[in-house]
Amino acid sequence: MRITIFGTGYVGLVTGACLAEVGHHVMCMDVDQNKIDRLRQGIIPIYEPGLEPIVSHNTESGRLQFTTDVAEAVTFGDLQFIAVGTPSDEDGSADLKYVLAVAGSIGEHMDEYKVVIDKSTVPVGTADKVRNTISEKLKARGVSTEFDVVSNPEFLKEGAAVADFMKPDRIIVGTETERPRELLRELYYPFNRNHERVLFMDVRSAELTKYAANAMLATKISFMNEIANLAERLGADIENVRRGIGSDPRIGYHFIYPGCGYGGSCFPKDVKALARTAHEYDYDARLMNAVEAVNNSQKYVLFDKVSHYFKGDLNGKTVALWGLSFKPKTDDMREAPSRVLMEKLWAAGASVQAFDPEAMEETQKIYPDQPGLQLCGTKEQALKGADCLVICTEWKEFRSPDFEQIAAAIRFPVVFDGRNLYDEQMLGRYGLSYYAIGRGLNQ
Ligand code: NAD
Repeated sequence: MRITIFGTGYVGLVTGACLAEVGHHVMCMDVDQNKIDRLRQGIIPIYEPGLEPIVSHNTESGRLQFTTDVAEAVTFGDLQFIAVGTPSDEDGSADLKYVLAVAGSIGEHMDEYKVVIDKSTVPVGTADKVRNTISEKLKARGVSTEFDVVSNPEFLKEGAAVADFMKPDRIIVGTETERPRELLRELYYPFNRNHERVLFMDVRSAELTKYAANAMLATKISFMNEIANLAERLGADIENVRRGIGSDPRIGYHFIYPGCGYGGSCFPKDVKALARTAHEYDYDARLMNAVEAVNNSQKYVLFDKVSHYFKGDLNGKTVALWGLSFKPKTDDMREAPSRVLMEKLWAAGASVQAFDPEAMEETQKIYPDQPGLQLCGTKEQALKGADCLVICTEWKEFRSPDFEQIAAAIRFPVVFDGRNLYDEQMLGRYGLSYYAIGRGLNQ
């Protein structure tokens, strides 16, 4: 099949590469000339495990092409995927300007039947807006061709995006007409062989499914963070509690890890957008608002612990920071808890020596020439001359560090762990104090 993808970010590029990998012919279009130039040279603009080889061999085979030419992109595909960003608007709603710009471009250049597929996360009712935008452009050009708009939200996780796309738990397709249903069945046939993964439903349910999924996951995290905060005040250990509740199959072990708050490009904006949609429909989404409020304050918990340890005097202190990305296996810094921590530390007069396996370039872009920020080549370099160590992201290489070396390198023997990677007694053997999330009274 011939497929056009608008947007070559985490979702668009992975979708394009994976569809080419199974034999489809794909053209990826982006307005970012620099990104397209780099992709044509085989340079992947994001860090995503396993993506580079499939982009390069599908580009070499000619099944995956890149362009900035809108007309060429619209003409190319029978299926037109919209995979551009939907960031939060000022009022928390999803900003649809990029999605509707693509819809406008499709309407300006389309001359024959196409299926337009919303893969971006978009509020309920967006398919209607996309349809109207295209119709208006066609009308203005005096072109009368049929088209369908389908909702096909994406559920991949950054850090495991290729694997998720290749072996999805489910593929949600929202359509109320038969023609696109058959085309999408064919498109996803290679991903659907050993058991049925495609769930067809109406468009509005498909749009809401994506928000419901992210809101549920965010709720699990905020719930655990709330219980963790309570555990600290009650002298309980959240890690015991986690194991205790996870063993109930109605609860399960997945996604119930407490920490220093969720970040990334999806949960924060999608929880806000769902609450905003509810507000527009005169419904007060109390739970969603609480999930967001708990998360916002959780991002300050590490700073409060550091500040408390140093009796509120952080002026001139140097903090070694391990982990900058909002989660492991990605370079994505959007809404990362590390940013809140660093900004609070700088405001308090402290400086930061940071290391992250993949997110250093992104951090540099966000904080160019930031006084008080030193990006270090290794996690050991970040420790040199620092007063304490703080961990914000649970990268594998932080799980079993040389504690003796840590104890020798930092001035005050203390580790603040936003991801509960270690054990207090274990660190105690090296003379290190340990402050984590929700682990008893001394926290
Ligand atoms: P991203 O910011 O990484 O990429 C968006 C890309 O779209 C950018 O390269 C930008 O230049 C391009 N773009 C903007 N306007 C364009 C236009 N008019 N034509 C062509 N390209 C244009 O975004 P992302 O993380 O890939 O997310 C895309 C959508 O998918 C969002 O709605 C997001 O909520 C959703 N989503 C993201 C993830 C994730 O893990 N990142 C997972 C599931 C769903």
